[in-house]
Amino acid sequence: MEKTFLVVGLACVDTVTVVSTYPEEDILTRAQEFYRQRGGNAAYTSCILSLLGAKAEFLGTLGTDQEAGFLKEIFHSYNVDIVNCPKPLDEIATPRSIVINNRENGTRTILHYDRNFKELTFEDFRCIQLSKYNWIHLEGRSNYKELQLMMEWIDNYNNTVEADKRIPVSLEIELPDCTGLDSLLNKVDTVFVSKEYAIDRGCSNKEEAVQKIVSKCREGANMVCAWGEDGAAAVSPDRKLISVPCFPPTEVVDTLGAGDTFNAAVIWYLSRGKTLEEAVTYGCKVAGAKCGMQGVDGLTIFREH
Ligand code: ADP
Repeated sequence: MEKTFLVVGLACVDTVTVVSTYPEEDILTRAQEFYRQRGGNAAYTSCILSLLGAKAEFLGTLGTDQEAGFLKEIFHSYNVDIVNCPKPLDEIATPRSIVINNRENGTRTILHYDRNFKELTFEDFRCIQLSKYNWIHLEGRSNYKELQLMMEWIDNYNNTVEADKRIPVSLEIELPDCTGLDSLLNKVDTVFVSKEYAIDRGCSNKEEAVQKIVSKCREGANMVCAWGEDGAAAVSPDRKLISVPCFPPTEVVDTLGAGDTFNAAVIWYLSRGKTLEEAVTYGCKVAGAKCGMQGVDGLTIFREH
């Protein structure tokens, strides 16, 4: 039976406003486009894995309001399973983001709101049947203590199965302010950190970032850092430095979700036995193409079975 890529983290609703130039404060600006879509790194990554050809599942807290219904429809339309998402007993509002997408240069400015949101717990996670999965990707969020329990549980499982049945685990750390996540760096097989995180930890370029942060990772881990227009760098399990430039599209239209696209493409290639260098190059190619299109649906051109 085909195994599943599980992506754990946030799903929210993004309200995207496309403008021809970044608005000035306190004036009326006419927008070019206005639409709602799925947001949240894990939700994005799971949908992109599915677009690339993977069997994908999202696991995270879904609200109890109408917005959650909208997200469920989107997951369904991208063929992403949500069967194990906990069914909340209390009312939970879906987190939301207002996104300003500037057509002039493709930037996305995000205002995120998630008051009273309940992050996924280990108790929610332990209901899943691990043998179904061939990869588990965890989005590093404030629930780092719960994430640690999830990682230990997967480690215990991996120690009881044959080598070819072990489930690789990857972790993404995007926001620098949750320092508790640093303690998880040495608990997974592949680590993705953002440029923002690396800069906050004193790094000034992508190569310095991966070479510095890899010392906190477990032996044999893949360490990856995407650096916007500068592409991405990585350190392989044999501690080789990999540096890949970006693949610029003819015109940068929309960079929202570029990082999630990159992560999904790297995971997809690694899971298919490609080297880390091939995977990071592929990640930059797919993410570069994404920046040249509105949304992500055009990424089916990369679909492989
Ligand atoms: P995020 O969306 O998390 O801010 P990044 O900006 O680090 O992600 O971008 C992830 C990847 O997307 C980069 O490694 C690069 O390959 C690609 N990318 C980002 N911005 C551009 C751009 N302007 N042109 C081409 N590729 C880009």
